[in-house]
Amino acid sequence: MTNFVSLIFLIASVLFIFSLKGLSHPSTARRGNVLGMLGMGLVIATTVFSGLVHSYMLILIGIALGGFIGTNMAKRVEMTDLPQLVALFNGFGGFAAVFVAMATFFNPEVHNLLNTNGDVQIKSLFEIGLSVLIGSVTFTGSLIAWAKLDGRLKGNALTIPKQFIFNAGLLGFIVFLILIMMAAPSSGIFWLIVLSALVLGVSLVTPIGGADMPVVVSMLNSYSGFAGVAVGFTLENTLLIIVGSLVGASGAILSYIMCKGMNRSFLSVILGGFGETAVSSSADDGEEKIAKRGSAEDAAFIMKNASEVIIVPGYGMAVAQAQHAIKELTDVLKADGINVRFAIHPVAGRMPGHMNVLLAEANVPYDDVYEMDAIDRDFAQADVALVIGANDITNPAAKEDPSSPIAGMPVLSVGDAKTCLFIKRSLGVGYAGIDNNLFYADNTMMLLSSAKEMVEGIIKALEDL
Ligand code: NDP
Repeated sequence: MTNFVSLIFLIASVLFIFSLKGLSHPSTARRGNVLGMLGMGLVIATTVFSGLVHSYMLILIGIALGGFIGTNMAKRVEMTDLPQLVALFNGFGGFAAVFVAMATFFNPEVHNLLNTNGDVQIKSLFEIGLSVLIGSVTFTGSLIAWAKLDGRLKGNALTIPKQFIFNAGLLGFIVFLILIMMAAPSSGIFWLIVLSALVLGVSLVTPIGGADMPVVVSMLNSYSGFAGVAVGFTLENTLLIIVGSLVGASGAILSYIMCKGMNRSFLSVILGGFGETAVSSSADDGEEKIAKRGSAEDAAFIMKNASEVIIVPGYGMAVAQAQHAIKELTDVLKADGINVRFAIHPVAGRMPGHMNVLLAEANVPYDDVYEMDAIDRDFAQADVALVIGANDITNPAAKEDPSSPIAGMPVLSVGDAKTCLFIKRSLGVGYAGIDNNLFYADNTMMLLSSAKEMVEGIIKALEDL
């Protein structure tokens, strides 16, 4: 039976790997999801029917309770609030690892962790310490990330001077405690590790603000995977080790890609030492700045006379659910022989791939959608850059103002186009909370309205021209 279970776990692991591969491109993402669900279904069924279960009742209660809460949360969440939900789920994963570590530490005999002398094996104590460390950090770090993404906590709330050094010191202290626990296990040391790691989770994420949250969310996702790996070693469960490694590694790779996209150091992210929100000077330099305002008709006229249009979607497109109207607009423009392409910034919106998902939902052809690196230099030859509900990802302060919270982050060069049209509701700030000087540039026209209404207005005006 155990061999059969191992075989099924191996098959499930392969399915998870193909699932991840599928999820790496929008055209294969659906297949990736199905493969992942198939793998998980196989694992659950095999575990339940393996004869290794001690209490079906507890499993049923867990499934009913977790299923009820999860279904309710997922049904109620708005698409724009998904990042918060993901952050919470990461946290729950970490918390589960802490509970498993607790169960194994206080009942080692049940989990066969004792050596011939009746002591807990040193290797198991190390794994338990690691589970508690990573799980607790993931839990409180994710709660802080959730509170920030949900707007319940300000960007740089709860920060202390030299937080990077504090974090490194606290991490060293926890490692020291784990070593003590391995030499002389006691519940006092165990709880001290839990407490210190919970504090470390808070301290790692609180200084990160401005536009750097996406990296934190994917980093916490990676941590939750590694917490699973540590638990897998303690329980000698190969599936947990494999799946945890997949989650941990893919989260780490995504964090790395995002760090590159944001021009941040990967090591600083891991130790929570970046993003200490600086105050932008561009917001209040005392000058009175005037933005040129336009209407849907003005925008339609400009676009009708263009031959190259690049559309830059951002978070506001998701809020307004304007993607279908935008697809219609591109069809109208293309019918007029205008070349229309989309430029996607790596952190546009509020979650990785946010814009790609929405554009795919509206059936925008994948070939029209370009990653930032592939299209950025083309803005200089474009007649129109149409920015829809985006702000930070176009803000030149990232290049020009070293004190800006987004300093160093690559931004789309929309200002290089002959005309830059911005659709948003006001001259207000984006996620990083800083003013965008591009709104006041000579070649910019602000189309102040909710994105969907403005795009529909432009379509109508184009048809009337
Ligand atoms: P921003 O948040 O910078 O700007 C979005 C703009 O959309 C706002 O300025 C807002 O202006 C406008 N807007 C909001 N609602 C509407 C609407 N209904 N119609 C039209 N416009 C609207 O978004 P960007 O996409 O430019 O940048 C993403 C930011 O989010 C970055 O700072 C990134 O770091 C951060 N982030 C990204 C994550 C990710 O994984 N992608 C995760 C967490 C954070 P107004 O109110 O005037 O309409």
